[in-house]
Amino acid sequence: MPATLRNPQCKRSLKNLGNQGSYSRVGVGAHKPKLTFKIYRKTIFLDVSRLKRLKEYPRFIAPNFEPFDPVKLARETERIVTRSGPDGLERKYEDFYATGVYGGISTGYCVGCCFRCVFCWVSWGRDFPEKFGRFYSPKEAFGRLREAAHRYRVGKLRISGAEPTLGKNHLLSLLEHIEKSEFTSFILETNGILFGVDKDYVKRISKFTKPHVRVSIKAGTPETFTKKTGAKPEAFEIPFQAIRNLLDYNVSFHVAAMSADPRIMMPRERKSLMQKLTEVDPSLLLSLEEEVMDRYETTLARLKFAGLKVEWPLQQVYTPIKKLLKRKTR
Ligand code: SF4
Repeated sequence: MPATLRNPQCKRSLKNLGNQGSYSRVGVGAHKPKLTFKIYRKTIFLDVSRLKRLKEYPRFIAPNFEPFDPVKLARETERIVTRSGPDGLERKYEDFYATGVYGGISTGYCVGCCFRCVFCWVSWGRDFPEKFGRFYSPKEAFGRLREAAHRYRVGKLRISGAEPTLGKNHLLSLLEHIEKSEFTSFILETNGILFGVDKDYVKRISKFTKPHVRVSIKAGTPETFTKKTGAKPEAFEIPFQAIRNLLDYNVSFHVAAMSADPRIMMPRERKSLMQKLTEVDPSLLLSLEEEVMDRYETTLARLKFAGLKVEWPLQQVYTPIKKLLKRKTR
């Protein structure tokens, strides 16, 4: 593996960050009302007159926040991060690079998501998609992915950074380019919202041979789901429906969950999550990828904004469920 491969997670998001974040309103009532948002030394200027439609746009979780509808937020975010272009639907990306995860993979780092997870490590492009990234057509995005893959001699591709399923036609066109290419696989990391509510999306993904989907489940109960993602509790079931849709269309996938970390998931919640997955398909537990929270500055800031205190460093983790099950069957 070339030594120049970048860290798997977005270090760029750390470069302008410091110790504190704050809001201030300036110019309200003046000719050009502006909202300035100072976050970790990076000042973001929002032109309020241009952002009327985004007045209610959720940025991150704060105490007493109003839970949102993630499907509605997905559609609002799509209006920001996609646009029609001469070569199909364009999507906003911040960068293209290669990283060491998955044994070396070329990565397109997109902006915009329909969750606001408190443990999220991705850049501020999640919270302020209108301020980050530039638009790429499916062909241009594929070209950049291919360029990074060739430069670092890796054979796999992925989109990471936020929610890659936003912009259905962009992703489907990108997959057409990938399908015809020399690359062996495409990792599609998703929170499962759009695959849960749009079965046709999953059906169309199933026509391609290269994608492998990684569905990330954030919580084990509707209440904790809302606390962790900001989405209303009724949406808790949607990612599980995404898993059912992937099973129905025989798409290659596995489930990941932030369930190895006792700081963010209590034993009762973890048990409830395992039960939910077992109800869908017991074999899901055998390939379950269990994660812990990492100490990125974006994560620390989001935890702080949510008023959550977390002990660092991590002292202990749960034994992975797949390991326990394998022991049992011996
Ligand atoms: S962790 Fe993933 S799903 Fe959650 S807000 Fe971040 S990018 Fe979105």
